[in-house]
Amino acid sequence: QAKESGRGTRLFYTPDMEGQPAEVLQQEHLLREAVFHDALELHYQPQVQVASGRLVGLEALVRWRHPQRGLVGPDDFIPLAESRGLITPIGRWVLREACRQLKAWHNEGLALVPVAVNLSAIEFRQRDVAGEIARVLQETGLEPQYLEVEITETTLMQHAEHTRATLQALQAMGVAVTVDDFGTGYSSLTYLKRYPLDKLKVDRSFVADTPADGDDVAIVTAIVQLARSLQLQSVAEGVQTTEQLTLLQSLGCELAQGFGIAPPMDVRRTRAWLHALPAAAS
Ligand code: C2E
Ligand code: MG
Ligand code: MG
Ligand code: MG
Repeated sequence: QAKESGRGTRLFYTPDMEGQPAEVLQQEHLLREAVFHDALELHYQPQVQVASGRLVGLEALVRWRHPQRGLVGPDDFIPLAESRGLITPIGRWVLREACRQLKAWHNEGLALVPVAVNLSAIEFRQRDVAGEIARVLQETGLEPQYLEVEITETTLMQHAEHTRATLQALQAMGVAVTVDDFGTGYSSLTYLKRYPLDKLKVDRSFVADTPADGDDVAIVTAIVQLARSLQLQSVAEGVQTTEQLTLLQSLGCELAQGFGIAPPMDVRRTRAWLHALPAAAS
């Protein structure tokens, strides 16, 4: 599954490719086709409560079914999409598809957990995210408490007025906001108290070498404590081992995601996770 996401090899857009406009144009053309001809799909990664292992959320992660290369992960096409004006239609598709899918599961009688959608800084800046979310929720009939958005520190640092207005509108709607990849951006902690936020997601680079690496343990500890003091929920991403899970539990980190718990999964396998939820949760 890690392989599927194509992490580590940038197939489509690298700085070297700037000297090769034909190649970029061809990939852009293929991606444009993909967006408008239904060749994107969403996979969902479970988020669980550390203490109980219970499913409490899903993160929607976009993939591209590439005609020659198979399933391609977002790191290999989001940068291209952003530079070629395709991020807006992709982001709209992701939002709508996540809401549509959740509502469809709900209509099947499955218990639901919230789904989190990632928004890059460029998307957040270019789109009327709050208005669009309100519209999509209305059109799909999904209740707002089943949608969350994930943004990075970079997003929080830019365009203060737009960011404030958007986050306040989301809060008023009941859509939760997570700060993704926390600790890796250029951030000022001021933003954590200034904006209405719900969760801090510890970047997986800090989790990866715990518990062996004492510095990383110190950083994760500090982030979890910071979250608690600010009354935000803490989420650890990239959890791969039982030792990491045990550490997180001892630190009081509430939520976790990672290959060690479950990888991002297609619709069929995600449905099986929802099926195992107690019905009373709906
Ligand atoms: P992210 O939001 O931080 O998502 C977590 C990434 O870590 C995912 O990669 C996931 O597959 C991977 N991951 C999960 N557990 C583990 C683990 O235990 N170990 C390791 N090594 N990796 C793990 P993915 O799906 O390739 O997505 C990469 C990034 O692409 C995401 O990072 C997010 O920033 C972006 N992205 C994904 N979907 C979308 C989307 O719909 N829109 C936008 N704008 N960005 C997206
Ligand atoms: Mg994310
Ligand atoms: Mg992340
Ligand atoms: Mg990340």
